[in-house]
Amino acid sequence: MSGNKKLVRQNFRDSVFKRDRNKCVFCGQTDNLIVHHITERNLMPFGGYIKENGISLCPDHHKMAESYHHSNGEEYPQGFHPNELYRKIGSSFEIAQKASKRLERYS
Ligand SMILES: [Zn+2]
Repeated sequence: MSGNKKLVRQNFRDSVFKRDRNKCVFCGQTDNLIVHHITERNLMPFGGYIKENGISLCPDHHKMAESYHHSNGEEYPQGFHPNELYRKIGSSFEIAQKASKRLERYS
């Protein structure tokens, strides 16, 4: 991994945690937080390592969010559709995609 890529990933984690005040956005838990990619990496330009595509989740709520990806969007708990996750952080797929394109100059 290049130094720039490492930096982009570090910035991604830091900026998402900072925006979400180091808490799971669903339950407020502060332990073992995970930065979840709302739209999967391979569906975003340059992997979508931007805060507009990231959300802080505890392990339980991360599992719930991941079920959307694992079932190809067919099954997921209520409130865990990517569009609902985007709404929680004041973003959207379009905003995330646009922001993600800015990563080009780092890759
Ligand atoms: Zn949680």
